Amino acid sequence: MSNSPMPISMLAAKKAGSGKANLIEVALPEVPSGHVLVHVRACAICASDLPEWNAQVAGPGKRGEWDADNPGMTGHEIAGDIVQVGDAVDAGRVGESVWIDAIVGCGRCEACRDGRQTLCEQVSIVSQGFAEYVVAPARQCRPIPPDFDYPIASLIFDMVGTPMSAAKLAGIKAGESVAVWGLGPVGLGLVQGSIIAGASPVIGLDPVASRRSRAEARGAIALDPMHPASLGRLRHLTQGKGPHVVLSSVANQNASRQAFDSLRLEGRLVTVAGFPPAGGEVRKWVSGSWGCYERDWPEILEQVTSHRFVLDDYVTHLFPLREIEQAFDIRGRDLEGSFKVVVTNDQT
Ligand SMILES: [Zn+2]
Ligand SMILES: [Zn+2]
Repeated sequence: MSNSPMPISMLAAKKAGSGKANLIEVALPEVPSGHVLVHVRACAICASDLPEWNAQVAGPGKRGEWDADNPGMTGHEIAGDIVQVGDAVDAGRVGESVWIDAIVGCGRCEACRDGRQTLCEQVSIVSQGFAEYVVAPARQCRPIPPDFDYPIASLIFDMVGTPMSAAKLAGIKAGESVAVWGLGPVGLGLVQGSIIAGASPVIGLDPVASRRSRAEARGAIALDPMHPASLGRLRHLTQGKGPHVVLSSVANQNASRQAFDSLRLEGRLVTVAGFPPAGGEVRKWVSGSWGCYERDWPEILEQVTSHRFVLDDYVTHLFPLREIEQAFDIRGRDLEGSFKVVVTNDQT
């Protein structure tokens, strides 16, 4: 079902080897029933895009990996405008500015019916956002809050939902101590989620100085884990026992292990990256966390639309789609100077 004159082709980035992408012209995607076509206005680079960006060979296209057959690559942090709707979608949504909740469940299983779609056995991800247009299920497209621009709105799905959901899973109580390992964009969200939950103190650990500064500006105590005194200081700040809760966004195995070891006995560890290195003999609660339950969005969105969860200063770089290689290059190389790098399309 077509609502307005649409172009028949679009530009999309297609991986062309390690650290390389070509812009190619491809047909506009079909819009199935229940779906919409979104004109991508911003697609942010996620840390999870980087291993694939550097890989020589395309992946099988599962769970947001490179798909050799589909242009647009991995991008899953997407904001834009609905320009066309499929059957069974309200035509009044054309023109709506949306961000995409990219984790899609089947909608029918027990987990999906309970709003916990990230647990669905048939879960899929809306990706291929490094293109001019992308297709998404209509119900995953949520309105952009009035005072958010497209680059900031593109961060809601993964930079707010993922850390806030992990902080919620940890069951932080007011006055509990929390250590956040890794202070990248997700880690900074874990800091904000901990502070919103009333944790005190909140201690962030990251070797990158600019990232520690961001965490300090949000009210955390920031430590450099490479400094030999940092682990002793973490213990000292938590009554000599270690924090009640550790939230980890580090993928590195040694850092994951340090994060686990720093946790007090009977403490809770939630990881959004890396592998929980728990040994069964140690009495600590460990869980992974991925994405955000659909049912948790109302309370989480309340935090971001009220600006208690502050996203305003995350975006350090904007690049047009044709400069996608520079965008990935700076995101992968400059950890001090870049935070969120967002690829944009012109307003036309
Ligand atoms: Zn992401
Ligand atoms: Zn399901």
